[in-house]
Amino acid sequence: MKIYSSITRLIICLMPFGIANAQLTMAKKLTPKEIRLIDERGAEDPFNVLLTTNAKEYKVLKKESETLNPKDPMVQKLADRMLATVKKENGVGIAAPQVGLNRQAIWVQRFDKEGEPFEFFINPKLTWLSAIHRLGREGCLSIPNEAGNVFRSLILELTYVDIQGNKQRELIEGFTAVIFQHEYDHLIGVLFTERIEAQKKLKFQEADEVNEVFYLVPSELN
Ligand SMILES: [Zn+2]
Repeated sequence: MKIYSSITRLIICLMPFGIANAQLTMAKKLTPKEIRLIDERGAEDPFNVLLTTNAKEYKVLKKESETLNPKDPMVQKLADRMLATVKKENGVGIAAPQVGLNRQAIWVQRFDKEGEPFEFFINPKLTWLSAIHRLGREGCLSIPNEAGNVFRSLILELTYVDIQGNKQRELIEGFTAVIFQHEYDHLIGVLFTERIEAQKKLKFQEADEVNEVFYLVPSELN
């Protein structure tokens, strides 16, 4: 995802939102083709970014991604090369399908943390999305010369597996939550331009008061 101006306004969505399935299924091994793609250059070399303007690449971007085994020996190199790619492109997030792998892995820049570090997330699931939304401008490394305003939940709950293979859960808010939603969408084959189209059918109402927003912290993972 490319960076644009910060929060424009807060919106309450009047439509209920589905909750993604938090189950982590057994990941299929990387295919020889996937391994070749990761291994064809060095760990510090960026991948080519797939573009929607190329018919073959568009098909990859529209495909749903499979889970990834964090213990796979190629995962570290995949992560390294994806990070080199997002940095080269001056992005704030990237998803594996954007570099040609239909696997559930994303990098997100954590604007909610000191130093704004990039972090890697394997098999992320958005397990809860707030009804309070924000409308903000987005662009995509895979969609040249396009930007638009997208409604995104202000707060979300996320489960994922870290590169050590530990299951984690976090509550994320603000612009970082926007990046998570944008990158997660890539894993289910959804582009921000399609979100804009879909949102035209939803009803949003401007929030009266946004100064004091609180959320209840859910209980520990089972
Ligand atoms: Zn994107």
